Amino acid sequence: MVTKSEKEKYRKISELGCSLCRHQGNEGTPAELHHIRRGGVRSRSPIIPLCTYHHRGSNTSIHGMGRKRFEQEYGITEEQLLEKTESLINE
Ligand SMILES: [Zn+2]
Ligand SMILES: [Zn+2]
Repeated sequence: MVTKSEKEKYRKISELGCSLCRHQGNEGTPAELHHIRRGGVRSRSPIIPLCTYHHRGSNTSIHGMGRKRFEQEYGITEEQLLEKTESLINE
């Protein structure tokens, strides 16, 4: 179940725009929510915003390339993107 405060948080996160585009200097790219898998309950997994290109593109995205290649390609880890996202919404 998603609580009201979680919904509010999801809204804030998606309004940030893609976290990887932001890292590359392009703020505000429309984003989808990507769940970070750590084992455990999916609904409790942390989320980061990623645009369709970086979320689902065949050779440009975390799902298309897999996390390891994605992190090598862009020089930033999923966890670092999460840290940046969390610090932005907690401002
Ligand atoms: Zn992006
Ligand atoms: Zn995803």
